[in-house]
Amino acid sequence: MPNLMLKGKVIITGAIEAVTGLHIGGAAAGLDIGGIDNPVIRHPVTREPYIPGSSLRGKMRSLLDKHLGLEANKFIQRREPVVRVHECDDEEKYLQCPACQIFGVTPGDQRRDWNRLKPSRLIVRDVLLSQTHEATRRLREAKTDLPFTEVKWEAAIDRITAAAVPRQNERVPAGAVFSPFEMVYNLFDLNGTGIENDIQWLTHLLKAMELLEDDYLGGYGSRGAGKIAFRELKVLFKSRAYYEGKVDKPIVLGEGDTLRDLNVSQFAEKIRQNLGD
Ligand SMILES: [Zn+2]
Repeated sequence: MPNLMLKGKVIITGAIEAVTGLHIGGAAAGLDIGGIDNPVIRHPVTREPYIPGSSLRGKMRSLLDKHLGLEANKFIQRREPVVRVHECDDEEKYLQCPACQIFGVTPGDQRRDWNRLKPSRLIVRDVLLSQTHEATRRLREAKTDLPFTEVKWEAAIDRITAAAVPRQNERVPAGAVFSPFEMVYNLFDLNGTGIENDIQWLTHLLKAMELLEDDYLGGYGSRGAGKIAFRELKVLFKSRAYYEGKVDKPIVLGEGDTLRDLNVSQFAEKIRQNLGD
């Protein structure tokens, strides 16, 4: 009988700094906030902008897919604009594919077959505007165009007459800090095959974070927006033994102000030594 056993969780926390203005689009029906053409997504109660976990997760996956050179073989949408993603459709390939094993595959008919259980290992939580950071206080006090955001005007220019069509984009200004972010990476032993792959593939997750820093989050990235930096990082490991109360504290795998400070190459050995079974 197939089975899935959780052997531990790696928990990555920290802050996300908007190095340039950040535009993660909200509902286009932004009439309640002054009829902005392209509003940002906001918390429905506090009206503060936030970063949806799905945006972070989706961007990291697409960057990792490209980094690994994976085939964009699955259509999410066939009409314009066409949206294709990578998803292994073959069990053999899946078992060797870090992207599909970390981020999961969408449930399909084949998922009813328990033998082909395909768990997603990664959970990415929504990230709210920091409530403690100095940057948020400054943002709150600044006289921005809309609460916590700037309205950036851009123009499309006719190449012959130079007539301009202006449009507005709402952005969270550079310097804003979203915190705490939290990503949870589960180490699963699937059918008794062990967790060595899961341990080694953790490096792909950290690589995806680094690729994201050198790419962009949200919209208008090629026009300057969306550069972010992961800061104040802490990576913890909680083993089965920890959840069973046999170990007092999580193991600190790494800590540092930037991704490069984390010493990722040591993570695998520290996890192996602290599995507690
Ligand atoms: Zn795959």
